[in-house]
Order: sequence, then structure tokens, then C-alpha cells
Amino acid sequence: METIKAYGAQSATADLDQLSIDRRDVLATDVKIDILYCGVCHSDIHTARSEWGPAKYPVVPGHEIIGRVTATGESVTKFKEGDLVGVGCMVDSCQTCDSCKEGLEQYCENGATFTYGSEDKHIGGHTFGGYSEGVVVDEKFVLSVPENLDTEKVAPLLCAGITTWSPLRHWNVKKGDKVGVIGLGGLGHMGIKFAHAMGCHVVMITRSPGKADDAAALGADEVLISTSEEDMQKHANSFDFLLNTIPVRHDLNPYITLMKRDTTMALVGAIEPLDSMHAGLIVSKRKNIAGSMIGGIKETQEMLDFCGEHNVVSDVEMIDMQNINDAWDRVVKADVKYRFVIDMKSLKEA
Ligand code: NAP
Ligand code: ZN
Repeated sequence: METIKAYGAQSATADLDQLSIDRRDVLATDVKIDILYCGVCHSDIHTARSEWGPAKYPVVPGHEIIGRVTATGESVTKFKEGDLVGVGCMVDSCQTCDSCKEGLEQYCENGATFTYGSEDKHIGGHTFGGYSEGVVVDEKFVLSVPENLDTEKVAPLLCAGITTWSPLRHWNVKKGDKVGVIGLGGLGHMGIKFAHAMGCHVVMITRSPGKADDAAALGADEVLISTSEEDMQKHANSFDFLLNTIPVRHDLNPYITLMKRDTTMALVGAIEPLDSMHAGLIVSKRKNIAGSMIGGIKETQEMLDFCGEHNVVSDVEMIDMQNINDAWDRVVKADVKYRFVIDMKSLKEA
């Protein structure tokens, strides 16, 4: 075992602070990774603050990990020392259930092992994420990262990227479709970039008029201010697909009225009870309200390869590990453009 530096929260109300964690020795199928960068996802905050139910403390968050391979187990075939790699939200799954066999490890019937907060089946306790110097992961859950991309801007693809890519693909969004992305944060900005790259007519649906210029630069064809009755009327019954990234409880009904007959709104943000939905709004036009969680490993690799080919990366604001508490406050205030990424050098040198 190796003891390394990390950042974590000791309780739901505590700030994040430096602490030590243990990483297992490299097993036969393991890849040891020196972490260069880690993205900051709103899920890190929900988890550490026990907003999604009681968390196991200390919480060491981080599931948008980019790093270099420093060692490999003797049975590893996909990676070698020096490779640029990524790790997302999962580090293991049963590999035997129907979901795993279909490459949908995130829906593992026996419960996937998430990068942080899951039972650690190797050294006991629970798993610790990427707000740390390094990590040891089974090669099945390690992704190849295209070297041509700007490495600092790649980390968010591992969660914000795949979480928006997967529903766009699953619901067969295609060229010319009118796609609405609700909420311009980490997930939303990747949703715009992907829908734009897929040739869709993209509408950014936001409460924040100040983000309109950015939305256009990210690839949005139009901006709909959700608090404007006039804008909502103008776009009623017009969308082929909606991707809803709102992170908290909210009223779905106004968004349902934007959908055409037979279309889908995929929820990827809130995972709590929502305000009551008016069933008449979906019954009367055969509309679908659906959900989606991250994406499988194969699909994540496809997304990264697509990004390599089309030069798609995130818009990031780099921070030092020591500034994480301020960064979290800004994420909660929807004041991030559009993903914070931690430069792990700051932790290594601390
Ligand atoms: P984020 O950066 O905080 O972005 C969320 C955006 O939603 C905000 O920038 C804001 O955009 C909008 N928003 C915030 N509060 C709102 C409210 N009360 N009503 C309407 N809009 C609101 O968060 P993120 O990292 O993109 O994550 C979004 C959510 O997805 C989080 O809950 C996160 O935990 C979850 N998540 C889910 C998965 C999954 O697998 N399903 C994966 C990763 C993350 P505007 O200013 O444009 O309105
Ligand atoms: Zn995430």
C-alpha cells in the first residue's frame, strides 16, 4: 500500500482540507496513474455535503481524472508506462450481469464501484476519488486519452462529457434536430458542444441572460431565457429533444410544454423528488420523460475518440487544489465558465 496526499471533507458541513489516503499495490490487471488534472463536478458537492443521502467520510471527491501511467500489472495489455489516460465515475463493476455484458457498467445490476464513496473491495473502507496525487485502477475502467487534445481541458469529458454524449446518442439525436440544453454549467456546455458537432439546431435554455454570448460561442444557434414568458411561448411545441441538467428540485411542466409530440426530455441533473408533474402534458402529446446516468466504458472511449477527431474539449478555469472551497461556492452559485479543473501539481508541491 502507498500513502498519498489528497483533499477531502470530514463531514457534510466541513470545508475540504488536505489529508492522507492509502492506495493499493498494483495488482495483475491494474494501472497506476499519476494524476495531472481533475475536474470539479457538481456531483462532488452533492456527495460531500450529503445532499444525496448520508455520505461515507472522509469524502475524497473527483471523477474527472487525467493522468499518466506510471506502472502496470503483469497482465495489463491495453496500457504502458507513459500513456495519457483518463478515469471517470466508475472503477469497477461485476462484469457478469446483463448491463455489464452490454457495456452499460453504470447500470450494473450488482452495483458498480464508483470512483469515490463505494465500498473498496481491495483494501476495505470506501473508494477515494481524483482530488489526490494518484490512483490505481483496473485497466477495464481506464480510458485512452487522445494526445492531440489540450490535456488541461480534457478532464471534464470523463463525466460532463459522457453524461451528455450518452443520452444524445441513446435517443438518436440527428443532424437537423432541434435540441434544447437546459442549464449552462459543466454538463450543459458539453451538451451544446456535442449537439452542435452532431449537426443539430441547438438552443441553450438558461435562466442567466449573461451567459447568452458564451452559449453562442459554445455552438448554440439560439438562446431561450427560461424566465421569459415570451421566449417560452415562442418555442412551445418545437423541440425534438431536451437535455435537462438542472441540479436541484424544479418544476418540469414549463419545459414539457416546449416539446413536440413523441419526443423525449432526458433528465441528467436532479436525482431527488421533483415538483409534481402535470400528467396531462405528457399524455396529450405522447411525450417521454426519461433519465440517464453517465455512460458505459466502451461508449466513453468512443466519445473520447470523437473528441480527438473533432477537437472537442471543455472550457475550463484552472485552479489550485487549495482554492477548491471557493470554487465549490461558485459552482453552487452557477458562476463557473464552465468547468473548474484542478492542477494537481498544486497538491503535489504542497
Ligand atoms: P453546474 O455546473 O452547477 O450546472 C448546472 C446549471 O443548471 C447551472 O449552471 C445553471 O445554469 C442551472 N441551474 C442551477 N440551478 C438551477 C435552478 N434552480 N433552476 C434552473 N436551472 C438551474 O452542474 P453540473 O456539474 O453541470 O451538473 C449538473 C447536475 O448533473 C448536477 O446535479 C450533477 O450532480 C448532475 N450529474 C449527473 C450525472 C448523471 O450521470 N446523470 C453526471 C454528472 C453530474 P443557468 O445559469 O444556465 O440557468
Ligand atoms: Zn460528475
